[in-house]
Order: sequence, then C-alpha cells, then structure tokens
Amino acid sequence: MVLTFLGTRGEIEARSRRHRRHSSLLLTYLDRKVMIDCGEDWAGQLEDIGAHAIVITHAHPDHAWGLREGSPCPVYATREAWDAMNDYPIDERETVSRREPLHIEGMTFEAFGVEHSTRAPAVGYRIRAGEVDIFYVPDVVYIEGRGEALRGTELYVGDGVTMSRSMVRKRGERLIGHTPVRTQLTWCQKEGIPEAVFTHCGSGVVKGDERVLGAQVRSWARERGVEARIAYDGLEMVLR
Ligand SMILES: [Zn+2]
Ligand SMILES: [Zn+2]
Repeated sequence: MVLTFLGTRGEIEARSRRHRRHSSLLLTYLDRKVMIDCGEDWAGQLEDIGAHAIVITHAHPDHAWGLREGSPCPVYATREAWDAMNDYPIDERETVSRREPLHIEGMTFEAFGVEHSTRAPAVGYRIRAGEVDIFYVPDVVYIEGRGEALRGTELYVGDGVTMSRSMVRKRGERLIGHTPVRTQLTWCQKEGIPEAVFTHCGSGVVKGDERVLGAQVRSWARERGVEARIAYDGLEMVLR
C-alpha cells in the first residue's frame, strides 16, 4: 500500500509550502486509488487526482467541502455526513456504518466512531490492504473501541492540531475538539503500534519551527517506543 499525503493542513487560516492544502490521504493498492477526505482546498482538483473512490471522515468544511460541486467517482460517508452533504450533486453515494467493514477498490475500510464534534459526527478508519493495517483519524478527541481500532496496525495517522496543550472541551455530555499529539503517542504505545504520522496540522505547526517541533515529536515517541513524524503535503510512504 502506498500512502500519499495530498494535504496536511487543518481548519486554520495559515498555510505554508509544507502544509498548503486541507488534510487528505491518497491510498494506492494494486493500481487502485482511494482518497480519504476532500476539504474545500480540493475543489476543482479531483479529475487530476484520479481517485477511484472518495471516503469521508466527517462533514466539516476541511474534510468535505471539496465535494460541493460533485465528484467524478463514488463517495462513501456515514449517514450523518450524508445528511450534511444532502444537496451536493453526487450521483454515486455509498453509506458507511460504524464497525461494518466495507470493501472499497481492493482494500477493506472499517469505520470507528470518534468523539470530535457534536454537529459533524466523525469516524476514523482502520484500513487493510493485503496484510497491512493502518488507522487514519485526522480529527480526534477519543476513539470508540480504541483497542480494537488500533491493535495490530502498523501505522497510526493522527491529528496534528495540537502538540501538548489540550484542546478538548465539554459540550453537554460530549467531548469536542482535539487530543494532543503527545497523548495520541501514548495510545500508540498502549496498543503496540510501531509508527505514527501526524497530519491535519494546526497553526502551531504551520507557523512554527518544524525542526524544533519534529524533534519534540520524535523524542516523545522514542520515550514510548514509537517512531513518529509530522507529515507534509506530498509525503509518500510505502508499507508492505
Ligand atoms: Zn478537520
Ligand atoms: Zn472536524
């Protein structure tokens, strides 16, 4: 499986050469391509990307608004995300249900519920291609069934909005916002994941000194027996 980080920018004003466009991951397996998330920055770019399917984590602007003019391929999203994308001119709509694995272009996608937003309920995906499993969750406070979601995966792709400062808030009974990178590395340690990459970068990363931040992430990771780095637009990884 080849991972191409098309974009690595979160829902912020700032952008840089390394983090120019909204977070999106292109997975290629046996010549078939699946794009995960399609934020506003990707409007008008979809023909060039040439994905065979697009999978959405949630309907926030930085994850779904690139589809407001339609899609050249089938789109997979949860019922809640489809409610929000109801008026998008998309012909081929597929519904994703939590914890029901779906075969998409030769890969298997299983959605796990994620606390992040009450208005735009989110999921993360455990994805299997051949013998390789990864987990992708660009916006996260908490993963429901975290052990089952993460155990046995080779790579965790997580939420890079905040490094160590908590951005979790309470709304009624629910938690919203973003869990720090440092805490997500502890999840990786607990579930025995050897490698982590952080995407969906916040302004701390996009406007900050990435050499310093990258060293910080590597050091937190090392303390936990994990290898980790911050993704950038265009980063490619091959897992086999
Ligand atoms: Zn986001
Ligand atoms: Zn979001």
